Amino acid sequence: MKTLILGAGYAGLAAATKMKPTPGLEALLVEQNAYHTFETRLHEAAAHNTPVTLPLAPLLRGTGVHLEQAQVENVDVDAKEVTLKDGRVLTYDTLVVGLGSVTNFYRIPGLAENAAELKQLSDADEIFNFVNRAYSSDYAGNRDIVVGGAGLTGVELVTELAQRAEVLSRERGLPPFQIYLVEAGPKILPVLDDALRQKAENTLREYGIHILVGHRLMSATADSVTVQTQGGEQKVIPAGKIIWTGGIQARDIVRGERLEKGPGGRIAVDEFLRAKNYPDVFVIGDMGLALNQDGKPVPTTAQHAGQQGRLTGKNLIRLAKGEELQPYEPTTLGEFVSLGGLMAVGWMKLPWNQKLAITGGLAHVMKRASEWRWRVSID
Ligand SMILES: Cc1cc2nc3c(=O)[nH]c(=O)nc-3n(C[C@H](O)[C@H](O)[C@H](O)COP(=O)(O)OP(=O)(O)OC[C@H]3O[C@@H](n4cnc5c(N)ncnc54)[C@H](O)[C@@H]3O)c2cc1C
Repeated sequence: MKTLILGAGYAGLAAATKMKPTPGLEALLVEQNAYHTFETRLHEAAAHNTPVTLPLAPLLRGTGVHLEQAQVENVDVDAKEVTLKDGRVLTYDTLVVGLGSVTNFYRIPGLAENAAELKQLSDADEIFNFVNRAYSSDYAGNRDIVVGGAGLTGVELVTELAQRAEVLSRERGLPPFQIYLVEAGPKILPVLDDALRQKAENTLREYGIHILVGHRLMSATADSVTVQTQGGEQKVIPAGKIIWTGGIQARDIVRGERLEKGPGGRIAVDEFLRAKNYPDVFVIGDMGLALNQDGKPVPTTAQHAGQQGRLTGKNLIRLAKGEELQPYEPTTLGEFVSLGGLMAVGWMKLPWNQKLAITGGLAHVMKRASEWRWRVSID
């Protein structure tokens, strides 16, 4: 059985590292980078240049999976062909697609052209370089930063940037740059309950971050954004750097006449995470539209991508051995949002579907523990 795994993110790498050399199973992992990116820590790289990648080759030892560093250009699930950017065409018996998501700029005028994103290492480098440049002695431009989107990524980024600004201001004797967090919805961090959200909001205010909820980002230029309040009033916010974290959509790379796509372009999958109408194609992580026990879409998170990847790796071995596939049963073990340094808020799941709210240093430890669990699971 010739198997291709596309993407070595949380989903694809989890699938690959759960595999073992199995008679009749030939597996190739295709990834554009020679490393895995801890996407959940990109905000730390953006603010502090923290290392957030891990070389792939050592992680695949003992799995029987070979690595092909190449960029996928197109996937045709009717022809069962994967075309690479260098023109080569790969064929497969079984395909696993885990190519993640891209930023959705919602066609807001000027946004895609003028805003940085936070989806890959080069984005984090761009932000880190701006902050350094902004504090150099010969910088005369605007140093303020506007971040659009107050979900997990936006909030984690602004708190980390605020910490960095404090340090740089002290070191260089310059006032910290202003940070504006712009959100069209009525609240930050909609995934959290009110008490935890309030704690997060208080922390942001202590950092001096300007929280503009109920402000829709209408357009962007190279050096400003225009926002509109719910009452229709428009304001221009000048900015040295604009960063958009306000939405994602599935990477649009898979073609198939009978593919079913849902919100955000995610590909609908069955209980075994196979694309509907294509039983030889597994779609996992941010690209797949798996449903939970209540029939609701599973969130696009690293936690769920990892669960889906681990199950799929084991299912590929079952498939090669002619055994029955195990169905996907999503569980959300908790959710933690880091708020810079040793501060975080979140909750963990308790028996009988109870949630335990945790804040401060302990929440930070829980967040780090989940990152460590991931690190250990791929070794
Ligand atoms: C700043 C930030 C913080 C986050 N924090 C959390 C958190 O705390 N908890 C949480 O659960 N989730 C968090 N997330 C979300 C989480 O990172 C994603 O849900 C997760 O990365 C999705 O996993 P994936 O495997 O589907 O895609 P990815 O991890 O994005 O992996 C996709 C892989 O495919 C590769 N690839 C893409 N296109 C091609 C191509 N054409 N050819 C070859 N290779 C390609 C990429 O290089 C990448 O390695 C955060 C995201 C961000 C940006």
